[in-house]
Amino acid sequence: MHILNEDLYKILIVEDEIKIAESLKQGLEENGFVVDVCNDGNCGLLSIEQNFYHLIILDINLPSINGYELCKLIRQRNLQVPIIMLTALSSLRDKLEGYDTGADDYIIKPFEFKELLMKIRVLLRRTLNHKIPEGTILRAGNLEINLESKEVKRGETTIHLTMKEFQLLEYLMRNKNHIVSRANIAIHVWDIDFDTNTNVIDVYISYLRNKIDKPFSQKLIHTQVGFGYILSENQL
Ligand code: CA
Repeated sequence: MHILNEDLYKILIVEDEIKIAESLKQGLEENGFVVDVCNDGNCGLLSIEQNFYHLIILDINLPSINGYELCKLIRQRNLQVPIIMLTALSSLRDKLEGYDTGADDYIIKPFEFKELLMKIRVLLRRTLNHKIPEGTILRAGNLEINLESKEVKRGETTIHLTMKEFQLLEYLMRNKNHIVSRANIAIHVWDIDFDTNTNVIDVYISYLRNKIDKPFSQKLIHTQVGFGYILSENQL
């Protein structure tokens, strides 16, 4: 059993239009996020009190507790979680009211999924907690990477990586023995406007595998179907 990367990002969607909620959930899951959905404000409040979320997507017109009130209640509980409000109302006044309640960003329906994804990445990136740079050398098995000289070795064999491959490997090494999702990788290794609908991440993982794993008997990069990848010297 492996520990899920603690920043395997968990998002709550509070949206009463089932179709929108479900398509958002699907889109976010395809991008590596873990998603819960609530279709009314009470459920939203309950979920927030019982679970930890990295980000909340909040519709404004909701049954039981509306989005504005829910947002206020979240902030009254002193929760700093980033909140993106969704709304069909596009007037400036509503927009301002949204910010006053403590929302971090705002998106007008109908919106492009890509635009929402970008806003999510911007907010998550802001709250990033980078893991340890324990010295300049990171190790896994006989793999060694030097963060300063950018030198990569397995045993005595020097391995040449491109800059992107190195950044990806560094991220996997910093999260050794923790699963990282495609969403984590996209946020940490690629730019914010990076389109995760492409298979770029998988392609780079296979480049890395060809260089650091394929020529050696001990494999370090493992696929966790449905979650992402994990770098570990343990047999999985
Ligand atoms: Ca609604």
